[in-house]
Amino acid sequence: MGATSTSGASASGSAIVTRFAPSPTGYLHIGNARTGMFAWLYARHHGGRALLRIEDTDKVRSTKEAIDVIFDGLGWLGLDWDDEPVFQATRVDRHAEVAAELLAKGAAYRCYMTQDELAEARAAAERDRRPFRLQSPWRDADPSTAPDRPFVVRIKAPREGETVVDDLVQGRVTVANAELDDMVLLRSDGTPTYMLAVVVDDFDMGVTHVIRGDDHLNNVFRQLTIVHAMGWPEPVYAHIPLIHGGDGAKLSKRHGALGVDAYRDELGILPEALFNYLLRLGWGHGDDEIISREQAIAWFDLDAVGKSPARFDIKKLENLNGHYIRATDDSTLSDLVAGRLDFEVSAEQRDLLRRAMPSLKPRAANLLDLTDGAAFLFRTRPLGIDPDAAPLFEGGARTLLARIHAALDGAVSWDTETLETAVREVAEAAGVKLGAVAQPLRAALTGRRTSPGIFDVLELLGREESLGRIADQMA
Ligand code: GLU
Repeated sequence: MGATSTSGASASGSAIVTRFAPSPTGYLHIGNARTGMFAWLYARHHGGRALLRIEDTDKVRSTKEAIDVIFDGLGWLGLDWDDEPVFQATRVDRHAEVAAELLAKGAAYRCYMTQDELAEARAAAERDRRPFRLQSPWRDADPSTAPDRPFVVRIKAPREGETVVDDLVQGRVTVANAELDDMVLLRSDGTPTYMLAVVVDDFDMGVTHVIRGDDHLNNVFRQLTIVHAMGWPEPVYAHIPLIHGGDGAKLSKRHGALGVDAYRDELGILPEALFNYLLRLGWGHGDDEIISREQAIAWFDLDAVGKSPARFDIKKLENLNGHYIRATDDSTLSDLVAGRLDFEVSAEQRDLLRRAMPSLKPRAANLLDLTDGAAFLFRTRPLGIDPDAAPLFEGGARTLLARIHAALDGAVSWDTETLETAVREVAEAAGVKLGAVAQPLRAALTGRRTSPGIFDVLELLGREESLGRIADQMA
């Protein structure tokens, strides 16, 4: 039996080289980003090299914008690469060269079957209810009988024995070689197929560990036919399960955002949070929830990657994001919020934002919350009042506001302690609870029902602006 096996032994001893090989699709799918992270972490953990290859052979999809989305998303996630990225489309001549070498070795052949002949062979398999496995008459034909018409180049796949792969995540996977077809290496226009390009590029880049999505598991056996025919070392394979939605189905548009950029721009997620979340999705280190990049590099290995698909849970991501928001310094956060505001933020306003951060960030799960929470700082008088805040001015509230105005106007200094004492005194004198005073005050100062602590709000807005906003609403 001509059993061929890949144990991974071929790659041991030398430094580990991994690669991430995204195809430009217009967005960097978070499932792909996670696979890229795993390939990157594996190399970093083992002191190897992490490489990037852009699989840009689909000319329609591979626009500059689509490629930039990948660079942008990877850079934002903090993934860096040990060499210039390889662009697959620039390597077609090399791919064709390998096909020519395989032809010369007799490991591949020119197949002159016409579209009609292929369709007929397919129809015959369907009629006989057997799986279609191409048996080209040209596999063993005498080349001198070749007709003068277009041809494709096909690999001579082994027909005996089996191919065994010891995948670092999926375990041992075996396929009978009789199942393999003589796949096309070069199309009739001379362009290489994806199968050929991947194998040649991995070899030329010195890739020792192919870490990628498990949607490529079936490709391994076909790709190995090329590796074996060229006599190249087999890479070690690790096929990472895809991410599924909360309902267990493969993550798709209907589950919400798919691209890394959408998590950043539309959901206001911090890169540290997405990194930590994607890392913990299908990989774990005990019960640790919060894992820094340095810890991830120190701890990451593939043996702790589960075989079953991980379920995406936006709530968990937001919880982590809240943690990272609270852990991020106030200047960085105010810069991020300033970038999301729809006006040019002055140095003074940026300073105000920074001073507001300690009261804003405990409440925020994402940068949208944070930006929204900061909005009151920059509103101009007279403030529009949210419909749900308007009832807070009913009853005697406007009269109370006038009393608060008088009390605050007389405050000897404008710090939270003095302000709190003044407001409490008004509540006591009026015989009402603090909340009965604080709620209309909040609505007057922010136009909203919710905000950071009311004394912090007063202090941040300052004496003049606070008194003005209160005066606008009082009776
Ligand atoms: N370009 C392929 C993809 O984006 C990955 C190919 C590979 O990793 O071998 O799915």
